[in-house]
Amino acid sequence: MNLPVEKKPSIPVAAKRGLVLLFTGNGKGKTTAALGILLRAYGHQMRCVMLSFIKATDRRYGEHKAVEKMAALAGADLPGPGLRGPGVEIIQLGDGFTWLSENIDKDRALAQECWARCADILRDESVKIVILDEITYPVTYGWLAAEDVVTAIRNRPEGQHVVITGRDAAPELLALADTATEMRVLKHAFDAGIPAAKGIEL
Ligand code: ATP
Ligand code: MG
Repeated sequence: MNLPVEKKPSIPVAAKRGLVLLFTGNGKGKTTAALGILLRAYGHQMRCVMLSFIKATDRRYGEHKAVEKMAALAGADLPGPGLRGPGVEIIQLGDGFTWLSENIDKDRALAQECWARCADILRDESVKIVILDEITYPVTYGWLAAEDVVTAIRNRPEGQHVVITGRDAAPELLALADTATEMRVLKHAFDAGIPAAKGIEL
């Protein structure tokens, strides 16, 4: 918004509190937007941890390689399986498992286990930005109670920002968000038979 200088709002004290951002909807760009925030955090040397609730995959996407390179640039060690950078980290949750197995109790237990790792990060005040990538799915499937997620986010250290991504965000998550954006599909290359491209999706 381009307000005339005299009308620009002064920054209220409340602006120092951490924000909750939600990127939802069916269109492309939710995880990409979250990664943009991770990049900004890196620039400011703010510790940022992204926890991904995606189906386990051995595939290393561009973002995993980038975080590894950021760490290498800083001469940092790279303990696996999370890729630790000087300030940014991506943790793939549910390693070695596949979401949506035949056994719902197993899925629920796995989701709870993954959530426990998120809850730890949401208590860690050294982490300035927490990205909960695709967390909307385990909530929608009923593996995680929306109430537990909301409570942990509400009780996080003051000043910590949280980014939530995933389709079909539960109303509780939308209510919690300070900023919420719905990515809406106008077109997607997949529909024209164009496969996922390096640097764009991978
Ligand atoms: P991205 O990771 O590309 O920012 P996203 O997080 O918005 O996408 P997801 O719902 O997580 O989207 O989808 C995972 C994959 O599906 C991504 O590779 C993404 O590009 C692709 N995708 C996103 N939206 C669509 C769509 N409308 N039709 C087909 N594929 C899509
Ligand atoms: Mg995504």
